[in-house]
Amino acid sequence: TGHRVTTLILGAGAAGLMCAAHAGPDTLVIDHAKAPGEKIRISGGGRCNFTNLGTAPENFLSENPHFAKSALSRYTQWDFLDLLARHRIPWHEKTLGQLFCDRSAKDIIQMLLAEMQPADLWLNSSVEDIRHDGTEFAIRLIREGRPVTVIARNLVVATGGKSIPKMGASALGYQIAEQFGHRLTDTRPALVPLTFNEEIKAGFAALSGTAVDTRITCNGASFEEAMLFTHRGLSGPAILQISSYWREGDRLSVHLRPDQDIFGWLRDRRMAEGGKAIGTHLAEILPRKLARHLAAELGLSGNLADLSDTALRGLADALTAWELTPTSSEGYRTAEVTLGGVATDQVSSKAMESQRVPGLYLIGEVMDVTGWLGGYNFQWAWASGAAAGRAIAGR
Ligand code: FAD
Repeated sequence: TGHRVTTLILGAGAAGLMCAAHAGPDTLVIDHAKAPGEKIRISGGGRCNFTNLGTAPENFLSENPHFAKSALSRYTQWDFLDLLARHRIPWHEKTLGQLFCDRSAKDIIQMLLAEMQPADLWLNSSVEDIRHDGTEFAIRLIREGRPVTVIARNLVVATGGKSIPKMGASALGYQIAEQFGHRLTDTRPALVPLTFNEEIKAGFAALSGTAVDTRITCNGASFEEAMLFTHRGLSGPAILQISSYWREGDRLSVHLRPDQDIFGWLRDRRMAEGGKAIGTHLAEILPRKLARHLAAELGLSGNLADLSDTALRGLADALTAWELTPTSSEGYRTAEVTLGGVATDQVSSKAMESQRVPGLYLIGEVMDVTGWLGGYNFQWAWASGAAAGRAIAGR
């Protein structure tokens, strides 16, 4: 059986649904999942951190840092807030410009489904094969167990990244891009907890559940946010952020009190109460368990007064540039996003259209554009989806 549409969008996620809302008449969205927007639903602890007030091109990683500028400037965080206002969806700012739904992430999914009307949505549909004859795409699908061929002039790839395979992530988008001659950059899990060798991990186990405000630096990037010890290694926003910059073999430098002149403070404490144990002093500025762990790791069992200026300097350095070398990350099982993807150099930044195959569009996370933690990845999905949708509607 055949079915003809102007535009077929693969993937009913954030980017695909936003594209459908702009693409004009005769649009069909398909997804192999049984519900649309599953990642939206679970995002932000069920409240969806749907954008960031401070969104700027600097918050994204890509081989070409300029690529995202065009779409981001033509569909901004303010455009998304206008959309929420029209749908009377209440929201709040949590921290660092991060915006969340007051009620539930389901508000966002409902809004997008309403916006994409009258586009059609087929769920439980998987792609078997895609051909392009120079003008049109022929997509063979299995829909609810039955074979269907869809003919479309425009094909939009919005299948997302590789993270959380359990929720429907697949490599289909990357395969389609390659089939049509696009280059892929290296992909790796990002916004992901980091893991350590057995010895370090065993030391962290006693700290599991402890959070501390830090500044973590690696490869020229630096984030000032909370770090969390877990029984698997390190997590928390600062670690997730830096994971996008960390590579195997790299060391993290962790500042445990970015708000304080540690050396000056230690010198004052030595003068005022030098007769107290070092661990006791550390527990005043750090969580008690962490203070104990560090004192033991540094082999410091005496009183603060016992430390020379040099030793005091050494202790201050250990607290302001604690060096940790992860062995790996938790991988796509828990990563929020995929770093890398379809290379930007053969895709138009304005329309998100392939420069190899006219009518082929690539949007959202499948592209080599990866946002920081904090609502930036959804803003990229909205912006790139709107860019492609408007370009299609204007053809
Ligand atoms: P997706 O939203 O992943 O949509 C892709 C769609 O394609 C899915 O519906 C999928 O089922 C479908 N699909 C895949 N393969 C196939 C196939 N072979 N056939 C048919 N359909 C297919 N970002 C933020 O900005 N803020 C947050 O709070 C946030 N929280 C997150 C929490 C978690 C746990 C995770 C995993 C991610 C989070 N993200 C967050 C990242 C964000 O969810 C993604 O960057 C965003 O959803 C990407 O949008 P997309 O449309 O490109 O892909």
